[in-house]
Amino acid sequence: MKYISTRGDKTERRFCEILLEGLAPDGGLYMPVSYPQVDGATLNRWRSLSYADLAFEILSLYIDDIPADDLRAIVRRTYTEQVFGTPEITPLKTLEPGLALQALSNGPTLAFKDMAMQLLGQLFEYELGRRGETLNILGATSGDTGSAAEYAMRGKQGVNVFMLSPQGRMSPFQQAQMFSLQDANIHNIAIEGVFDDCQDIVKAVSNDLAFKRQYKIGTVNSINWARLLAQVVYYFAGYLQATKTNAEKVSFCVPSGNFGNVCAGHVARMMGLPIAKLVVATNENDVLDEFFRTGAYRPRGSAETHETSSPSMDISKASNFERFVYDLLGRDGFRIKTLFGAGGFVLRGEEKAGMARFGFVSGRSSHADRLATIKLCHQRYGQLIDTHTADGLKVALVQREPGVPMLVLETALPAKFAATIREALDIEPPRPAGLEHIEALPKRVSVMKADAAQVQQFIRDHV
Ligand SMILES: *Cc1c(COP(=O)(O)O)cnc(C)c1O
Repeated sequence: MKYISTRGDKTERRFCEILLEGLAPDGGLYMPVSYPQVDGATLNRWRSLSYADLAFEILSLYIDDIPADDLRAIVRRTYTEQVFGTPEITPLKTLEPGLALQALSNGPTLAFKDMAMQLLGQLFEYELGRRGETLNILGATSGDTGSAAEYAMRGKQGVNVFMLSPQGRMSPFQQAQMFSLQDANIHNIAIEGVFDDCQDIVKAVSNDLAFKRQYKIGTVNSINWARLLAQVVYYFAGYLQATKTNAEKVSFCVPSGNFGNVCAGHVARMMGLPIAKLVVATNENDVLDEFFRTGAYRPRGSAETHETSSPSMDISKASNFERFVYDLLGRDGFRIKTLFGAGGFVLRGEEKAGMARFGFVSGRSSHADRLATIKLCHQRYGQLIDTHTADGLKVALVQREPGVPMLVLETALPAKFAATIREALDIEPPRPAGLEHIEALPKRVSVMKADAAQVQQFIRDHV
């Protein structure tokens, strides 16, 4: 399998060449040159596999520059009951006939980002070791991404993590999750500022090309193809658990922000997985819902981005969305370059109609909807869900069709967003064993002004 850019550069690269990279040199995102097709016989064969072995089969279709035995060992190390809590790894929790949650949040940081990030940690360590290189990951986080990256990279050979977060702005639980890590290769930097200040520092440091080269600065953001590929696996796992034969179709409803999660569903559907609908659920930050309803893509500025009670979906510009539009518009790289170069755009006529052909529909949820859905789910189904999953369930209940099972992806556990659970139900969400007193653990964090030069000095002093 080879990979090309969405913006017209047809240079073909192999998996391990793009593994440690962000954007393609022309500013596009990497895509496989074609989607491997999974036929009915293969899908049947996969019905009896463990999650790790299913992951191996799917990853093998996209990775041909890691020896099979090594790749199998990597996925078996990654997807274990010990790390993800159950032998199924992503078990279904039935709410009622034809409606289930698919649990993706039982990894170390209680959010679905562990599903991909844990694999990325193993792949980075493997590839850096093979090359005899090191990498210093620099990132900015307002919550889930940073902690997932730190738990995936902790103790890994050849990798350091420098994670910026806005001081005092994450929930006490999220801060405790990150700052309690004592691993020597994990560095928490609390910036006196807001999330945008953190992101500006990451950009400034990455634009200092001499520094970037000398200190081998890299990222782990959601446009990384390996992260997306890891996520494709659980769509297959969900489908195989929900069906007995390949004649059955299933729909997925996906709480969405940067379009990474649901884009993996798109890839699974393109590979031939019998998915009826891919339902994109947004919160008040409804850039994606607006697009799927109207054909207009209007990324917003930070002033127009609302702070909501499902904060991991508070995005103004969906960074993986370009991948879907590339397929939607017949893989015309020059068209993509024009559209995304211009910022926003409007699709009309045939092009707009094409969205349905790819199975996409959408919906939007508000704070009041979240509270109502958390209550409804608790009362009707006896299940406590988090705010992001509530956005998904709200939209799923509107969009589901008779005779087609709907799987709602559970993207975080309620313990992470306790304040809204208290507001909805006046109860304290339970915490997984071992995390009861995480706020009391010693913290390892350096506080700094919003100043790129200070962050650069810190990196120099700690590599
Ligand atoms: C990151 C995240 C999302 C959004 O996922 P995307 O891939 O950015 O669309 C939804 N819910 C939770 C809990 C998240 O952490």
